[in-house]
Amino acid sequence: MSGTLVLVATPIGNLGDLSPRAVEALEGAALICCEDTRRSGRLLAHAGVEGARLRRVDDYTEAAAVDAVVELLAAGEDVVLVSDAGTPGISDPGSRLVAAVLDAGHPVSTVPGPVAAVAALVASGFATDRFVFEGFLPRKGQERAQRLAEIAGERRTLVLYESPKRIGATLGHLVDAAGAERRAVVAREITKLHEEFVRGPLGELAQRYTEIPKGEIVLVIEGAAAAPEATDDELVEIVSSLVSEGVSTRDAAAQVADERGVSRRRVYQLALGIPGAVTPPS
Ligand code: SAM
Repeated sequence: MSGTLVLVATPIGNLGDLSPRAVEALEGAALICCEDTRRSGRLLAHAGVEGARLRRVDDYTEAAAVDAVVELLAAGEDVVLVSDAGTPGISDPGSRLVAAVLDAGHPVSTVPGPVAAVAALVASGFATDRFVFEGFLPRKGQERAQRLAEIAGERRTLVLYESPKRIGATLGHLVDAAGAERRAVVAREITKLHEEFVRGPLGELAQRYTEIPKGEIVLVIEGAAAAPEATDDELVEIVSSLVSEGVSTRDAAAQVADERGVSRRRVYQLALGIPGAVTPPS
């Protein structure tokens, strides 16, 4: 019978968050894959797990570890994957190993637990029914500009990881992209001694973080407010400009309706009144 690859979440700062089921999985594993053997060794010592076999699996060694892991699973042994903190695979190595193990036909399971993104989200006070995890933003260039523009228009709550060194600059860029009034929360050192949640509009937060803060940070941003419903005059104006560029009345109406979130029928009826609009053959 095949062994199982088990993704085990570990604390993001407070060792009391290591669950009994996590300890059980660590005790029962033939191999524990981890990002840093010394760091995970300390966690195992704290949990009283002795004699564990650790193997380093990080961004560079993940592909190379696949064969050894699959061999153990095929022999019926369980393998555990942990990361330095929190849930493996979330801005941490893991997803490639999981995909490879599934491809090889072995089961994958998890012992869930801390994730900094979810901890910050639920304490933010913003909507939690739908949210977007952005991980770390690209550091520069077109890719970063594109992501900032997407964040500006995003209606769902957004969760970002950011380093203390870059939080000041990122807040400034977010003010430029999404406006100083958009509400956000800087969640710092979650579950640790100096845990803090600083809440306020992006403009205020950008002013507060001009110096590099200590510790780890999650940034939660409230989703953009819904755009006010377009008026008939606005719809006619946008459709007219598309029609004057040579777009057919029908296509222009459909495009504008989809972009402004109104019914195609309403925009098409309005479009038929525009001089030069092409009416369908009767
Ligand atoms: N796998 C982890 C998880 O499940 O959250 C995330 C790993 S990622 C490499 C590290 C980032 O997570 C940090 O830079 C920070 O943005 C966030 N983070 C981790 N622990 C945190 C904590 N205790 N407080 C605030 N942010 C934390």
